[in-house]
Amino acid sequence: MLLLIATNLEKNQKIKEAGLYKQFWVSFDMGPKNMAVVLKNEQYLIAMFQPVFGKLVEYGRQMRILQRKTDRQRRANNPDNYNPDGTIKKGKRLKWKRSKGYIETQAKIRELHRLVKETRKAALNELSSTLVALGCLFKTEKNKYKSWQSNYGKSVGSYAPSYFIKDVYSKAENAGNEAVKLPLKNALSQMCVCGVKRKKNLSERLHSCECGCISQRDILSAYLGLFCSPDLGEWESIAREYHNADRQLLTASHRVYSSQAASRQNSGFVLCLDKRQQSCSCRNEDGHLGENFGNVQVFKDLKTLVGELSLNRKSVQLSSGIPCL
Ligand SMILES: [Zn+2]
Repeated sequence: MLLLIATNLEKNQKIKEAGLYKQFWVSFDMGPKNMAVVLKNEQYLIAMFQPVFGKLVEYGRQMRILQRKTDRQRRANNPDNYNPDGTIKKGKRLKWKRSKGYIETQAKIRELHRLVKETRKAALNELSSTLVALGCLFKTEKNKYKSWQSNYGKSVGSYAPSYFIKDVYSKAENAGNEAVKLPLKNALSQMCVCGVKRKKNLSERLHSCECGCISQRDILSAYLGLFCSPDLGEWESIAREYHNADRQLLTASHRVYSSQAASRQNSGFVLCLDKRQQSCSCRNEDGHLGENFGNVQVFKDLKTLVGELSLNRKSVQLSSGIPCL
């Protein structure tokens, strides 16, 4: 516990050094399996997709190997319980033999489930503390978490959305920050920045609109939440104003998500757009972005990004300290 407090203090120090302490509006898009978080201040727009997932990818791989092994062992020990096509026989009550090897594999699987649970909990805790240090205003939709019935205790890819949001909101309120819940009727996941509403299937994870806006779906929805207020009940037109500068990041989220999905490496990602940076030469003549996403940088996690931003700030301070000749 003490160690946890010490690392949190150290992390807050980094965030303060980077000049980012309590600077951001933070918006969440929570789904049964997907989580997106978008942060915005005057200079930066940051988007995270599956921020906790990266730490669990390796466990997921190990779990699949063990589950295949246990299945092979069960079959080898009980050949009479299976039909010729490999399915389990139905009807009479089957007796199952358990070999020593099978019992050992089962124990390994239980241990891995415990590790996943622990790692996930620690990662969610760390994330909520970091976000509360960065943010001064928090927004999320009033989701009906109970109706999702996700089995996040078991599955590696899923997480505990209602536990996580409760944790963020209570930490934020303790720190004296505003934390608001947006009405679900906005249906942010169906909206585009241009105001057009289109129903999407749950399996559609990418957004693409005739107005030219493309984005990863969950990130766009969290982004729109930034411009929503609970009283008005719908997203505000400022989103349109911001959109020209911010669309680089939305476009990048579409591309990074697609390329991770194509290579089956769903480990999540963090994107950061620095709006004060001069637009670089990677723009094509027609204004479209090159594959290096213009002023958007890709990071593996939030910690790496905060480290990078605090380094940037130090080097800016250093270079402005050199006298002009
Ligand atoms: Zn549109």
